[in-house]
Amino acid sequence: MTVIRVDARARGYEVMVGPIEAGIERILDLAQGTTPVLVSEPRVFALHGTSVAEALGAQPILVAEGEAAKDWDSLHSLLANFARLNISRTTPIVALGGGSVGDLAGLAASLFKRGCPVVHLPTTLLSQADSAIGGKTAIDAFGEKNLVGTFHQPTLVVVDPAFLDTLDERQMRSGYAEIVKYGLIDDPAFFAWCEANGRGVLAGHRDLREQAVTTAIRAKARIVAQDVEDRSGKRALLNLGHSFAHAIESECGLGSVLHGEAVALGMVLAFRLSSELKHCTAADADRVAKHLGDSGLPVRLADIGLPNRGGPLVEWIRRDKKNADGKVALVLAHGIGRAFLDRSVDVRQLTAFLDRAA
Ligand code: NAD
Repeated sequence: MTVIRVDARARGYEVMVGPIEAGIERILDLAQGTTPVLVSEPRVFALHGTSVAEALGAQPILVAEGEAAKDWDSLHSLLANFARLNISRTTPIVALGGGSVGDLAGLAASLFKRGCPVVHLPTTLLSQADSAIGGKTAIDAFGEKNLVGTFHQPTLVVVDPAFLDTLDERQMRSGYAEIVKYGLIDDPAFFAWCEANGRGVLAGHRDLREQAVTTAIRAKARIVAQDVEDRSGKRALLNLGHSFAHAIESECGLGSVLHGEAVALGMVLAFRLSSELKHCTAADADRVAKHLGDSGLPVRLADIGLPNRGGPLVEWIRRDKKNADGKVALVLAHGIGRAFLDRSVDVRQLTAFLDRAA
């Protein structure tokens, strides 16, 4: 069992990487005699939920599968279930599933009785490597990705890589994009490791998969600790590729392009734009596109049916939460492993770039 500590101001917590059984014992300790509430969704529950529910002695509450869980109706129904069960403020709410279940359950936990503890048991590569750590919760609202949410740090995260054995290849590739991101932000040696070992990670090689996930968790823990509520610009670097990605997801219709697929394309666009603006070399941008493309991820807007859509994409980007004082905030790069937050790109320049980038 590997244990990684996340220091989030007063609310530090542990991420345990290893078999779920050890995590269950910790959750029962945390519950202090109350019965934990298990939140999951039909597919994940059928594959992995029964034994977890039995071990916790918990009745499961099932929400919709995938991005569909992140809406007002699901939030309302989950809160209604918490009220029906009359759960106390100390009852752990245990989220078993991918980032969609985690984002919804985390938000509901943060709202119910002004905040209940949430424990994440992430089951996708994306949620194990990224979304279960850091305390961001959200639903999509008014057509916009992650518009309504809170910061609510988990009390515990248990990452069992064996859950990934049942994940399909497209979801694995989507999660892999978020892993590569950590190399591109500030760890060029890890990006080189991904180039050498990405194929093995995607093929399900256990040691490589665990190494990739723990490296990503350590990186996220380090960055989150420097800027817990995303205010100083440090944590914004985790959004490399995400301004483009959220615009792509909204423009395609939420849920049709997977989040990690949109992030992969967004990171390629961030490097292509950085190269056009002479922040980094074209060779670095090509290297990023090659590795993500070789990993089976989209690297061109045309790959996902969005050529020549600069105008609408920029309209979405202008709504991004990182923007301030009318300026568009984008994470760009001086090279591989040298991401930075930029507020100087002109909206017309960005539109023309996206039209050309087809
Ligand atoms: P997901 O939760 O939407 O799940 C994707 C699919 O995988 C679903 O069909 C699900 O049933 C299936 N699945 C999950 N685990 C499985 C398993 N072990 N075996 C077989 N099938 C399984 O996908 P995701 O990629 O984990 O999460 C995406 C969401 O995470 C997006 O909404 C994104 O915005 C959010 N996110 C949040 C953060 C954050 O910091 N809170 C960070 C990154 C992404």
